[in-house]
Order: sequence, then structure tokens, then C-alpha cells
Amino acid sequence: MTTFKDLGAGKKLCTSIAAMGWNEPTPIQENAIPVGLSGRDLLGQARTGTGKTGAFSVVALGRTKAGSKTPTTMVLSPTRELADQISKEMKELSKATRHVVVPLYGGTSYAEQLKALSAGCDVVVGTPGRVMDLMGRGALDLSSVKELVVDEADRMLDMGFVEDVFSIARAVPEKRHTMMFSATISDEVRKVAAAIMKDPETVSVSQDGIAADSVRQYYVEVKRNGKMDVLRDILANGEPKTIVFCSTKKMVDDLYEGMSREGTRVGAIHGDMPQSRREKTIRGFRANKMSILIATDVAARGLDIDDVECVVNYDAPLDPETYVHRIGRTGRAGRKGIAFTMVTPREDLRIPSYQEFTGEEIERVTRKMIAGMEIANPELKALHPVKREKPKPKAPEPRKARRGECAVISLDIPRSMGATRTDVSDFVTSVVHVGRDSLGRIGMSEAAVFVEIDPEIEKDALKALNGASFRGRKVRASPAPVKPRRKEGESRVPALPFKSIK
Ligand code: AMP
Repeated sequence: MTTFKDLGAGKKLCTSIAAMGWNEPTPIQENAIPVGLSGRDLLGQARTGTGKTGAFSVVALGRTKAGSKTPTTMVLSPTRELADQISKEMKELSKATRHVVVPLYGGTSYAEQLKALSAGCDVVVGTPGRVMDLMGRGALDLSSVKELVVDEADRMLDMGFVEDVFSIARAVPEKRHTMMFSATISDEVRKVAAAIMKDPETVSVSQDGIAADSVRQYYVEVKRNGKMDVLRDILANGEPKTIVFCSTKKMVDDLYEGMSREGTRVGAIHGDMPQSRREKTIRGFRANKMSILIATDVAARGLDIDDVECVVNYDAPLDPETYVHRIGRTGRAGRKGIAFTMVTPREDLRIPSYQEFTGEEIERVTRKMIAGMEIANPELKALHPVKREKPKPKAPEPRKARRGECAVISLDIPRSMGATRTDVSDFVTSVVHVGRDSLGRIGMSEAAVFVEIDPEIEKDALKALNGASFRGRKVRASPAPVKPRRKEGESRVPALPFKSIK
């Protein structure tokens, strides 16, 4: 058996590692730690749950001394949740080495972060937005950084953070050691790697390891309005600790409202909720105050909860990478998990793409079959019995947007590019990570394309689309003016500033 000591981890680090109960390095740790400790730049292919945080942390903490005035390690994460988890794990790992770790992300107090920075620290873990912000205020000095880590690079790209990552990399001394991790290594990820690293060695864990074989995977064919019934069937089967994924914030709100009204204790997280509330919900789910968490992809990214028994894709994800990210929330820490994906007749073609990507079979099941399946783990259930609440007379979270109203986004894709409506909708849904249902009509003018979109996701969509690449060209996205309705009550969908081509 290889030990952390064999991989080159120092004595103090090994003490913390032992205290954390890590008896043996995971495959990514075994492959990445020696490369990283040797000082070679590193591009690691690993998804959350593989131990990648441990891998880069052991390297960064092993290569830097504690007790600095300004940070010597900078870790960038695409989301607050992940930044929070990384900083917690790094704090644990540095208990014996005494490195001081400071998390820097939006939604938390500036005053506290500024105080921690001026007191001196060794490691900063932050989201690109807050890091840029603190650099701009002159509060964060990156001139002593020796170790730069970019985590979840594919998500950084998806979320439009790549320019920020470049700016931060420029603010860090050129003479540094850089490690970048990504669940998938696309051409774009390689381009970012080439821009910020020198001759990196690629370290990957086998493709087989991507969709953990510890997850049984099923799909259920449903009509759009039959999803709630299938979800009830799944949850009735022993009430497993479950994360339910939806493609839009609105869907999360709707489902939360519906289930709360039925008296089921559920939590919900999405990007529009204040950070404090999201954290409270995640803490509650972790502590089994509720056994069901409804989430969007962005809010659940990197969530690391060991005893999740079941993942339900209430909306089938568009791309296989998202599928893998989602089902990877279960079957962790040596436990078995189960994943169900609901597909409407229009979506069932997505199943083969997931299967191709993971190399694993996804079995079709019917509602009847679900009734006879073993989903919840009875031992775990004894530890966290599901609590039911009295049905609430009123929905706790009223939706802001009124059904039928649309925002319109314009994209500078000229007619001359010959893009069809399907091309545009495929582009938007994949970049924004939403289903086709979140889009309305799509129209074109000579100079631009206009897309009707659910107003609740407009802000996120603009952020994701701006700078995204369509046929190798960067797209600019902006909110388009919407003409007022002609007659009140005639149509709830505002007129588009163009002739629809639907
Ligand atoms: P990550 O992929 O970094 O999100 O890590 C997933 C989980 O595995 C975290 O809860 C880590 O604390 C845990 N972990 C990381 N490395 C090891 C290890 N060598 N042995 C046991 N657990 C580990």
C-alpha cells in the first residue's frame, strides 16, 4: 500500500492527514502529488469526490512555509460553496503545519476578509469575482504567491470567468508553480492551461472512474406533468437522502413550494438566494434536518456530502458532463448510490450521450419497477429519520416572476453566419445549462439573434453567454428592449423587437 509519506508528504502534513482519517491516498492523489511536489506544473483531470482538493493542498502546503505576511498560495474556485469546502479542508490539513488559510468569496463580510488579510496569511481560497474585487481595492497582494491553483477549470469557462482567471494569473509572479484541475479536459481547457502554465504534465484518473461504478443509474420516461408523481414514488421508497436537480431556479422554487405544501421537509438552493441562506440549508441537509435538497447545478457544484443516497435529475441535463457532476453527488466515500433521470419524450435522446460519455449503462425503469426497488439504506435511515411537518397553508417562497413573461437577450450572431434557430437554442441551452423549456421564441435580424428567456435566469444567462464562443467566435450578449404589449390581456408574451422565425 502506498502511503502519503511515500508520495513525499512531510511529517507534519502526514500528522494532519492521519488525524483526518485518510489512511491511503486516492488515485488522483497518488498520481498528482509526486508530480506537483517535484515542481512540475500540473493539469489534473478529476471531478469532485476523487480527493483532488487533498491532492493540490498537500502539494501547495508541502512547498510553502507557514507564517507569511502576504499569501504564498492562491486557490481559485468557480463557486462560493466549493471555495468554502476547499478552505475548510485546507484548514484541517494545515493544523500541524500552521498555515493560515483565508476564504475570500462574495456574500460574506468584507470587513472580516480585510481584517484576516491584513493580519497576514499563507493561503487564500477565493472566487474570481471577489479576488478581483479585493485586488482592485488594494487589499490583496499576490506578489508573493508561489503556488497558484485553478480548480474546476471547465466550470470557470462555462461561467465566463476565464478573463478573470487570466488577470489573476498575471497578478501572480511569473516564477511560480501552477496546478489546474478540471473534470473534463476540452480543447478550451487545454488553451487556458497553455496560457497560464509551463509544460504541464497531464494527470488523469481513468475514464471508468468518472461515473463512479458505485452509482446505479436508471432513467424513467415521463410526461412533463408527470414528474412529481415519479419523484414521490422514488422518495416513498424508504425516503432516501436525496438531491433533486432542476435546470432552472424557477423550477427549484416551484418544486420546493409544491413539496413543502404537501408537508415534506425539503431544502432548496439556487444562485439567487443569499449566501447565508444557502449555507444554512446545506448545513441542515448535511445534519439531516431534511432529507431532500432541491438544487440547480451552479448552487450544488462541489457539494460534498458523504451520505447522499440518491440523486434525481428532475430535469435531464443537456450535456453529459453535467450528468456526471450531478450523479457524482452520491456513491461517495465508499458507499453505494442510486441515480434516476427523468426524461420527457423529447429528451430521451440524451440518455445515449450520457452512456457514451460514462461508458456505463443506464437502465430504463417504470414507475411500477421503482416501487419494488431498494433505494434507501436502512442503516443510514435509522441514523436520520425523516421528519414531516404540518402542511404549510402558504407557500414560503413566492415566485417573483409571473408566468408567461419573458426577457429578451440579443446575441451578436449575424444572419450571414447562417445559424438556424436550433443552432442558437442548442448554443444557449448548453452554455447557460438550462432546458429548452426556459427559452421562448428565437428570432433574427441582419446583425443579431434575439432569444426570449425566462426572466429569472436572465442575469445568469447574460453572464454565461457574454464571451462564450459560438463557432469559434466570441459572442456579446446584451439585454434587448422589449416592445410593450399591444393590448392588455391579449398575450402575456411581450412582442419581440424583430420578426420571429419560429
Ligand atoms: P474532493 O474530491 O477534494 O472534493 O474530496 C472528496 C472527499 O474525499 C472529501 O470529503 C475529502 O475529505 C475526502 N478525501 C480526500 N482524500 C481522501 C483520502 N485519501 N482518504 C479518504 N478520504 C479522502
